[in-house]
Amino acid sequence: MLAERMLKVDELFQEGKLAFIAGPCSVEGKKMLEETASFLSGLGVKMLRGGLFKPRTSPDSFQGLREKGLSIMREVADDYGMIMITEVMDAENISMVGQYTDVFQVGSRNSQNFPLLTALGKQKKPVLLKRGFGNTTEEFYQSSRYISSQGNDQIILVERGIRTFEDSTRFTLDISSIPVMRKRVGYPIVIDPSHPAGKREYVEPLSLAAVAAGANGLMIEVHPDPDNALSDGMQQVNFEQFEQIYKKALVIRNAMNSGF
Ligand code: PEP
Ligand code: MN
Repeated sequence: MLAERMLKVDELFQEGKLAFIAGPCSVEGKKMLEETASFLSGLGVKMLRGGLFKPRTSPDSFQGLREKGLSIMREVADDYGMIMITEVMDAENISMVGQYTDVFQVGSRNSQNFPLLTALGKQKKPVLLKRGFGNTTEEFYQSSRYISSQGNDQIILVERGIRTFEDSTRFTLDISSIPVMRKRVGYPIVIDPSHPAGKREYVEPLSLAAVAAGANGLMIEVHPDPDNALSDGMQQVNFEQFEQIYKKALVIRNAMNSGF
């Protein structure tokens, strides 16, 4: 089934509820995506992420399944009743990717690709905009305006860490961007703990801190066999680790909902 229905961000993020977006860094094939979707949907996760067009630092690294992965991901998302989220890297590919995906992801490296943002503002599907790792919160906000000023206010903001002098983690997770961005816009604010962590053992503490700081959702990379993943293997958690993070994050969210 092609993705013709226009989802609204409000259907995906509800007041007081913690939303989860999860899936592999890259879609590597149908079987691994099915295993992942089956596990995640069983837990109650509604949104399936997975990169098909991958913005890799080196041109020699795996670039994703690209066009041939679109129908695989759509089919798996439908089979497990999940929302599909995948990255689009350039404006020319919006209509092709948009025939399949429910939500367009704009990656950190494209967060100031103004022609791409403008083109996404002219269509109606939700856009998940990641913060550029060299961008201030003001620049992040202005990037979102490139989309909204064209008429599309279906935006999800994702903080995924910024580059600092600290090198014990891959990026530095800027938790303060949650209250800062919250003051400026009403869009859901999601934390991606995987890319700043760089190592899977740090994904849980970053996730829990984000929930306590008021994030509306978490976007976590999970893989059936992280050590053999084709991209970002070190930071992807396995199913067991994901389940722990999921349960603990909900405990924190529920505690916050119950008041103090
Ligand atoms: C991703 O989420 O697949 C990704 C490439 O992350 P980022 O753009 O934040 O580096
Ligand atoms: Mn990744």
